[in-house]
Amino acid sequence: MSLRVAIIGGGLGGIATAVRLAAQGHQVTLCEASPTLGGKMNSWETHGFRFDTGPSLITMPHVFREAFEAAGERLEDHVDLQRLAPVAKYIWPDGTNLLHTTNLPAWLDTIREIEPRDVDGFMRFLQLGARIFEVSDATFLRRPMSAPPDWRVFKSLRHFPFRHAWGNYARMVNAHFKSPYLRQMFNRYPTYVGSSPYRSPATLAVIPYLEFAFGGWFVTGGLYRIVQSLASIAQAKGAELRVNAEVERIEHGSGRVKSVRLTDGSKLDADVVVMNGDAGLLGQLIGDPAPRRVHEDERSMSGFVTLMGMREDMPGLDHHTVVFSADYRHEFDQLDAGDFPTDPTVYINAPSRSDRSLVPGRGEALFLMANAPARMTPWDAGTTRAAFERVSARLVQSGFADLREGNIVCDHWTPRRIGTTYHMPGGAIYGKNSHGWRNAFLRPANKQQLNGLYLVGGSSHPGGGTPTVLLSAKIATELIGKHERA
Ligand SMILES: Cc1cc2nc3c(=O)[nH]c(=O)nc-3n(C[C@H](O)[C@H](O)[C@H](O)COP(=O)(O)OP(=O)(O)OC[C@H]3O[C@@H](n4cnc5c(N)ncnc54)[C@H](O)[C@@H]3O)c2cc1C
Repeated sequence: MSLRVAIIGGGLGGIATAVRLAAQGHQVTLCEASPTLGGKMNSWETHGFRFDTGPSLITMPHVFREAFEAAGERLEDHVDLQRLAPVAKYIWPDGTNLLHTTNLPAWLDTIREIEPRDVDGFMRFLQLGARIFEVSDATFLRRPMSAPPDWRVFKSLRHFPFRHAWGNYARMVNAHFKSPYLRQMFNRYPTYVGSSPYRSPATLAVIPYLEFAFGGWFVTGGLYRIVQSLASIAQAKGAELRVNAEVERIEHGSGRVKSVRLTDGSKLDADVVVMNGDAGLLGQLIGDPAPRRVHEDERSMSGFVTLMGMREDMPGLDHHTVVFSADYRHEFDQLDAGDFPTDPTVYINAPSRSDRSLVPGRGEALFLMANAPARMTPWDAGTTRAAFERVSARLVQSGFADLREGNIVCDHWTPRRIGTTYHMPGGAIYGKNSHGWRNAFLRPANKQQLNGLYLVGGSSHPGGGTPTVLLSAKIATELIGKHERA
């Protein structure tokens, strides 16, 4: 039987849910407030340069394949997914650098050169991540978090037979590695979910494991091709995808959703409403008189992003390069205090190193990102300029040319701009941070108490990042199949 489904938000999770539900024959209408689909996974073209404005590295390619297979399609027929080798180059202020590869023998050789005793530590670290993945894949990543939270799921996560599985992430890294370089390198992984290594649980060791086991990938022509392909599949299956369509209210009665009302005054009757926007905005949409807001301290980090079109080729750059700050701990202390770091670690994505279709003949399309606190203020012209000066200073101190010279395009995305563009409080990229096990594992449930209301996306279970968002779409679709009747 066919259900009338209204999806609020055309981010990756909303589109993937539209694909799944439309393929099952439901009447799907997706409403995206912005002029383009994709949410944070978006793209920008100017002066012959093409940029991904959000994700630049994906892992768990099998999860992306499943999203296409849900509609009877093959990912390979739509996008050209390429494995990165090496995944990234890491550079330290003293000139030390290394190439991180997921080729085990080559990577162990690299570790041996830096600190021979850390070969054993790395193998134990990988084993810990593998065990966490094994347990969480079965109990957490592919299963709904019911409302109220399912404590059995949580308890199964607590009973790891590994000494280091519980406790603090950075301390766990210290216990496995002696080299300060490897410690800093592995401490970067909690930032993949917008969190500090010094405040996250050790269970986030699953992130480096996932990257090592499944590789780091990019898409020829840009990751936005994934959004475009899934959107066209959803449409081919009969879903209507509307842009410039902001929902201002979820209407309900007798404990059930009834319709969504848009800001243009129109109304869509619905048996099921799927919220893909930030979970923190749900209370306001359902008319909760005292909606619970995510406190600033609970927010994941945001980013200060600069998109740069460079006139000349930069052969010294890798596809992914991480330029570390001199004092990582101090950097996170400043972020915790709500300040943009004086010496930020800078991540550079230069996809044009692997894919020349992204530039106008020559030059580079660069995406530079530094972690930034998820606060809407102050971020005016002065603070933006000052932040970029700090980013540039770090790059120059680490041996790069001053990127402020030789660029044709230079566009800054502050936390404020990220938050306003994608309707995310404070520009918190991953909703809540993963500080402490509660935040890491107990995210808003995909099925809400109000009947017919579901959540998908990075701010809900099982969490942020593109593969987990696709898993949330799968979980929500399965829950709709189980609980809803037309
Ligand atoms: C700079 C940056 C770098 C990133 N890097 C990576 C990376 O390398 N790898 C990775 O895996 N992930 C990365 N991410 C995270 C990844 O992009 C997100 O986790 C994922 O795309 C979120 O998808 P989502 O389904 O939660 O939707 P979102 O992208 O959050 O989109 C939600 C959509 O809902 C819309 N919306 C909200 N409210 C309403 C309303 N009332 N009416 C209509 N529409 C509404 C918004 O406009 C938005 O378009 C990055 C993100 C950013 C910003």
